[in-house]
Amino acid sequence: MPGSEEREVDLLVAGAGAGGMTAALVAALNGMNALLCEKSAMAGGTSATSAGTLWIPCNTQSLRAGFDDSLGRARLYLEGLVGTGEGRELREAYLATAPAAIDYLAANSAVAFVPAGRHPDYRELPGAAEAGRGLVAKEFDGRLLGGDFARVRPPIEEFMLLGGMMVAKTDIPRLLGRYRSARDFGHSAKLALRYAADRLKYPRGTRLTMGNALVGRLFHSLRQRRVPVLFDTPVAELLREGGRVAGALLRRGAETLRVRARKGVVLATGGFGQNPALRARLMTPPAAALARSMAHADNTGDGLSLAASLGARVAASRSGGLWTPASLTRRSDGSEGMYPHFLLDRAKPGLIAVNAAGRRFVNEGCSYHDFVEAMFEAHRQGAADPAWLICTGAFVQAYGLGAIQPGTRSLERFERDGYLARAGSLAELARKISVDAAGLEATVKRYNAHAARGEDPDFGKGSTVLNRFNGDPAAPHPCLAPIERPPFVAQAVWPADISVSAGLATDADARVLDAAGAPIGGLYACGNDMASIFMGTYPAPGTTLGPAVTFGYRAALHAAAS
Ligand SMILES: Cc1cc2nc3c(=O)[nH]c(=O)nc-3n(C[C@H](O)[C@H](O)[C@H](O)COP(=O)(O)OP(=O)(O)OC[C@H]3O[C@@H](n4cnc5c(N)ncnc54)[C@H](O)[C@@H]3O)c2cc1C
Repeated sequence: MPGSEEREVDLLVAGAGAGGMTAALVAALNGMNALLCEKSAMAGGTSATSAGTLWIPCNTQSLRAGFDDSLGRARLYLEGLVGTGEGRELREAYLATAPAAIDYLAANSAVAFVPAGRHPDYRELPGAAEAGRGLVAKEFDGRLLGGDFARVRPPIEEFMLLGGMMVAKTDIPRLLGRYRSARDFGHSAKLALRYAADRLKYPRGTRLTMGNALVGRLFHSLRQRRVPVLFDTPVAELLREGGRVAGALLRRGAETLRVRARKGVVLATGGFGQNPALRARLMTPPAAALARSMAHADNTGDGLSLAASLGARVAASRSGGLWTPASLTRRSDGSEGMYPHFLLDRAKPGLIAVNAAGRRFVNEGCSYHDFVEAMFEAHRQGAADPAWLICTGAFVQAYGLGAIQPGTRSLERFERDGYLARAGSLAELARKISVDAAGLEATVKRYNAHAARGEDPDFGKGSTVLNRFNGDPAAPHPCLAPIERPPFVAQAVWPADISVSAGLATDADARVLDAAGAPIGGLYACGNDMASIFMGTYPAPGTTLGPAVTFGYRAALHAAAS
């Protein structure tokens, strides 16, 4: 091997997202000599561009803040949603370990979390909680990273204000209400001033929130423990010795780095969201054909392919992905972006979603994952690619729509860019978006008649805690209002994965299993490389980052003890 270099460590971790960084950090904290290799030039992967919520039932931070929870209730909820069959052992390990993993990071590193407060679980099932199970990383000052701040993958443009300012979910109501209270005005002004000062020195704001705060904190902690991170250095081949994985070959440009890893290798390469062949194989129709991916561009299924070449089992998982409806944006550099419609618009009063026949197909206020599963189902009956969000100009003014912020005065630019369509009548709107006009008119007429009475017998919009949580508490009905006054507005939403749910089968210590169900010695997987413990369901906010951190932690502890 020309230019090859040899290195020996205890644990090699591939992929600097939330899963991999946690594994490397916990390994170092347990006295191991850890090495983290990352395919791209930046840390963070999809974790950096995420909302950064972790679902951690019974977490200490929320219990301390006065939220009530019990493992029994969380277990009951999961049993109702996922069942008691396959993967139960992993879910048990998750419930038992997740709070401890969070406490461990908080006590031993700069990775600190705060309760997300009221943030309901996504299904109305026994054991569901309305508050307390969500955690987010405490906002982080990117300046603490010095020159390494440039190595933190920035959030998607759609999640930043003024071209580079991050805000937390809790900032949004305060920014929107800045002229209503002196306190909120002060808070907003403080954010703006900090951002203005940042921009004199940095290409974006340094007050990191959401997934960027999580990644910033993990990266900072890795630096503090002097864990080497090799950028632009993907893992390319796993090395076996005596029936176990004993290291890997890493590629760095034209060079090969041979790493012996005494305790093993952790695969945390972010899953297969960007690998069309694996999507076609592991996602059920019509998902692979219809859905775009919001995964980081380098998440091309390397971990799965490498492990599969050693006989690892890849576990299928319902539709294979975890989804959000996304509208297509035009970014400042002219490229196409995506805005995930998580929570700000769909549940609000005066919006419905229709398919190409102009018919509704879902309770619009359900979780983003359930919304897209309903899109797939609707598509099996007739075209729903895209689905259309239908509302009025007054709705957009009041609540915003996708990447359009509330209070936006003129929608012309968005109409010109094709981000939405507007018309003086429903029939004209339908023609503009090629939706059946008679179907749309009949749907809106029926919806309006019910909405005026505050009911939705067809799909139950407004009937769940989650609907009302994301609705408008100040409106006569939090989720229902007739769609009556022009201009009428339509916006296309497409299915997109925010995560994959199919992945490597593992045991509760994140050890990768072979086809016979036996662990492959020395090989671990976490994050999206590991099959979702929730078997393709989406219980609550934080469905993937909670397990990514918890099983990264478990993998490192297991390796340390081996
Ligand atoms: C907009 C958005 C919001 C989201 N919000 C949430 C949320 O609030 N809560 C939640 O739970 N989930 C959320 N998700 C999903 C969540 O972000 C992902 O599931 C999670 O970040 C995956 O973490 P990971 O560590 O597996 O992968 P990643 O964070 O993607 O990291 C994988 C890393 O591996 C690297 N890599 C790839 N191949 C190789 C290789 N061969 N060698 C070395 N490195 C490699 C990649 O470059 C990447 O840096 C969101 C997703 C999106 C898109």
